[in-house]
Amino acid sequence: MDQQLQQEGYFGEFGGSFVPPELQEVLNYLSEQFYKFRDDPEFKEELSYYLREYVGRKSPLTFAERLTKAWGGAKIYLKREDLNHTGAHKINNAIGQILLAKRMGAKRIIAETGAGQHGVATATACAMFDMECVIYMGAEDTRRQALNVFRMELLGATVIPVDKGQGRLKDAVDEALGDLVRNYKNTFYLLGSAVGPHPFPTMVKHFQAVISEESKQQILEKEGRLPDAIVACAGGGSNAIGAFAHYIDEPSVRLIGVEPDKAPTLTEGVPSIIHGFKCLVLLDEEGQPQKTYSIAAGLDYPGIGPEHSHLKVTGRAEYATVTNEEVLAAFQELSRTEGIIPALESAHAVAHAKKLAPTMDENQILIINLSGRGDKDVEQVFQMLK
Ligand SMILES: *Cc1c(COP(=O)(O)O)cnc(C)c1O
Repeated sequence: MDQQLQQEGYFGEFGGSFVPPELQEVLNYLSEQFYKFRDDPEFKEELSYYLREYVGRKSPLTFAERLTKAWGGAKIYLKREDLNHTGAHKINNAIGQILLAKRMGAKRIIAETGAGQHGVATATACAMFDMECVIYMGAEDTRRQALNVFRMELLGATVIPVDKGQGRLKDAVDEALGDLVRNYKNTFYLLGSAVGPHPFPTMVKHFQAVISEESKQQILEKEGRLPDAIVACAGGGSNAIGAFAHYIDEPSVRLIGVEPDKAPTLTEGVPSIIHGFKCLVLLDEEGQPQKTYSIAAGLDYPGIGPEHSHLKVTGRAEYATVTNEEVLAAFQELSRTEGIIPALESAHAVAHAKKLAPTMDENQILIINLSGRGDKDVEQVFQMLK
């Protein structure tokens, strides 16, 4: 891609930054600092220290022997982001951004959260680095994920429920951006997914790319070759872009993102601007972002990262949808066959892989990015199955 455009945060026609001038100034400074520290050897060393000693990286690339037998077809590997501290991939990004915030002299961290996982990851990192932490969360989500609210509070964060709009993730993003404009002097906005105005999508990808950096090395060690396909769920798209990053320039590797059929942003979205950036967006008849209803709170967002939008329109990545029934079945199947209870978000990837694997042959390799563990969802699934 054109270096100049990449610098400005464009992925083809998508991305960019469409925000009021006050916010643009804050973002320009953030970009400058991100590019400055990203390649700084001391920063890189500090980041890799905390990823290793605190998050517990590398995460394993587990051969799923029983699943491979049960599905017939491709050899299945699971990239185990569920084994990270706090139970998902989001901590990779939270640690990266908080180290940047520290270097920029911020004293206060704000964040939005949907499922609560990013809020927990952020509150965790704030506790460890002794930062004030304020988390905006849709009121509806605070009810769906009450235990995560309590976790954040235990970790010392203040959780602010957002009643506006649908009381969901996108409303929480709006509130957090408002806070940033008012308090940018001492505040760092720690964005949880590969969305938002530049430099966030580029920055979040940078911190999540460790997933594919590791998986590429791991699969080469185990199999002596690249995988044939990578499957990851896509809400905002951070675990998926992290799982894809080091394979984007390897055309033999199919990249597949999976969405809920109730929030099929990449399948049915149209180019539009949401939350200060351009991406594929699900619009209703009035041209407003559609209300989405996913059983996985982390996938409940009518937009998607700009790079995924670009990968979709250029055909480099494919995007599929799965139904709630398929997700619930996959949630149970992975639990029973591999002894791993996945997050409902991750179960979307498992559900699609189940359809894909039998179409591949035994010599082929499919990696499922297991973005998180399912402890947070067990009660919800219990209620749904009753
Ligand atoms: C938040 C979350 C997601 C969705 O976010 P992305 O930015 O699309 O990765 C997926 N899986 C889990 C476990 C999550 O917590």
